[in-house]
Amino acid sequence: MSTETTFTDAFLLDSSASVAQNITRLNLLATESSCSKDLNSSPWDTPGGYGPGASQDDEIPADYPVQATIPESYLQASDEELDQRIAAARETLGERVVILGHHYQRDEIVKYADYIGDSFQLANAALTRDKAEAIVFCGVHFMAETADILSGDHQQVILPNLAAGCSMADMADGPSVQRCWDELMELYKDEDSSDGKAPVIPVTYMNSSAELKAFVGRNGGLVCTSSNAATVLEWAFERGRRVLFFPDQHLGRNTAKAMGIGLEQMPLWSPRKELGGNEAQVLQDAKVILWHGFCSVHKRFTPAQIAKARETFPGVRVIVHPECPMEVVDAADEAGSTEYIRAAIDAATEPTTFAVGTEINMVNRLAAQYPQHTIFCLDPVICPCSTMYRIHPGYLAWVLEELVAGRTVNQITVPKDQQGDAKIALERMLAARP
Ligand code: SF4
Repeated sequence: MSTETTFTDAFLLDSSASVAQNITRLNLLATESSCSKDLNSSPWDTPGGYGPGASQDDEIPADYPVQATIPESYLQASDEELDQRIAAARETLGERVVILGHHYQRDEIVKYADYIGDSFQLANAALTRDKAEAIVFCGVHFMAETADILSGDHQQVILPNLAAGCSMADMADGPSVQRCWDELMELYKDEDSSDGKAPVIPVTYMNSSAELKAFVGRNGGLVCTSSNAATVLEWAFERGRRVLFFPDQHLGRNTAKAMGIGLEQMPLWSPRKELGGNEAQVLQDAKVILWHGFCSVHKRFTPAQIAKARETFPGVRVIVHPECPMEVVDAADEAGSTEYIRAAIDAATEPTTFAVGTEINMVNRLAAQYPQHTIFCLDPVICPCSTMYRIHPGYLAWVLEELVAGRTVNQITVPKDQQGDAKIALERMLAARP
């Protein structure tokens, strides 16, 4: 049997089925099809790339942290044993530990989380647990870094599996962004500055390294999330004539387009080309310069999937994440952050059919939490975020039991020389809130 189920197959039985039948059918399909047979591979395999899932073909940085093999007892433990060991370690640690779970984590992890949310919600949640000496972040590397920047000096941030990175964040590295910045500064150096504005303000998406958050903090810029990107761009345009937006081109383009900025004023910056592959005049005329980065999970969504959902479920409400390509956001009814998607479904008072364009673990969890609605993922081929998926319960059990034994493993520490500037960039974002 083919491991891939087409979108047409996915909906063959659904038009006349009940809501319960639809959910059962969709969940069944979810277990039958995935974007890669590698998703069934061992969680202990050392990845040669970004591993199973949508981002498996993304380039892995040479200096990416490597997760050492953990003790055999975790590798051999059954799910039940890991469950008991995690529960016992948590009980022993009490308020000394707080466990944070991102929306895109698998259920086996989320069930242990004290807080579930997006990256910034979780970093802020940690701040409310001052007694916690250890913040165990079940998410990806940049999230743990952000928690380390915002948390107290007495708190240690732990990422259960060091191989849990974000391929989008890694698409913009410090040296490439600095090169881009130097080229732009050279290009704009003779520009009329009588308006008192900077030629360009750097804006980095939360999904970026601490090094880049520090870069924007040092250069008059700030951080944005998928919830506040428009507010942040407005802040930047009050202070600058242009914005350099990285790493996600789609969030930048979708946000700027919604603000009325023309596509011709949003050139794409390819980091390996001179002037990012652009004519100087195009960069002179630009309003938002978009870094050539993307999320491999969200770029899988297509307008054809939305058309098929509308054909199969007349009246379906289509909500997608703004990391999706512009054509997908244009074809959807709404676009918003993970928190926006959750809140929109939560606020629906009548039974509604939702087609959602974001990571599958979150969509499946919403479908289970809101059984009065029919909720399914726009992409019938299952593609979890492959790096989020690396936080297996075995790693969680390991880091917690090490804490019980008085040892800290997998601590994420942002270098001191980045802490201050990165915090400035985050604080500017908070101050920019409407
Ligand atoms: S879903 Fe995309 S942006 Fe989010 S962590 Fe995974 S690769 Fe990164």
